[in-house]
Amino acid sequence: MPFQLSRSQQAALDAMGIPVWLRRESDNSVDNSKEIIPSIARTEPDVVATASVNGFDWQALEQAVQVCSACELHAGRTNAVFGVGNQTADWLFVGEAPGAEEDKQGEPFVGRAGQLLNAMLAALNLSRDQVYIANVLKCRPPLNRDPQMAEVEQCEPYLLRQIQLIQPKIIVALGRFAAHSLLRTELAVGRLRNQQHDYHGIPLVVTYHPAYLLRNPADKKKVWDDLCLARTVVQQ
Ligand code: URA
Repeated sequence: MPFQLSRSQQAALDAMGIPVWLRRESDNSVDNSKEIIPSIARTEPDVVATASVNGFDWQALEQAVQVCSACELHAGRTNAVFGVGNQTADWLFVGEAPGAEEDKQGEPFVGRAGQLLNAMLAALNLSRDQVYIANVLKCRPPLNRDPQMAEVEQCEPYLLRQIQLIQPKIIVALGRFAAHSLLRTELAVGRLRNQQHDYHGIPLVVTYHPAYLLRNPADKKKVWDDLCLARTVVQQ
């Protein structure tokens, strides 16, 4: 059965500037058999920190994040940004770290990049409360500088526990930083996207960060392709 777009999905794709070509059933020129690539040379996160949130329920985990002072980022935060959405979602989107607006509101992806993420979700016929959205880092790095590896290692146990609780069918890593942190690789997004990876047994797809897309709208079609791959994994 060929994939059908609803009117609202078509409108969302139009809003993202993504042209839609529907593949004819007889068209087998596109290779859908994606290789599953295990994460590369990953190291396990800090065992002590992981053990400290193992077994936490949502409430205890969120409380732990709100009072966390494991790295220096806690000193500059207005709010820790725990994550938002459906706690049993099939889809988990993981970004980098809160920006200024997210730090102010305590919610991930609420700025311009968040609006584009919402459009990406709408194109998939999903709303923010049907998916879960989180970041690798729960606190905003000063002046939006790049997160440091030590900060990732302190913070990753929180994300890992969120993933254990959610048990998503797919993780979508948004952008270079999320992909590098989760997969412990330094390969460019262009090399990591359009294929299925593995994060602690959960399928993971890498795509460009919405903030990157705001600067490089020509790559929206690639993001749509990545989201379609992710949708295929969810539907398997
Ligand atoms: N960029 C991110 O990676 N995460 C946010 O929450 C907002 C912007």
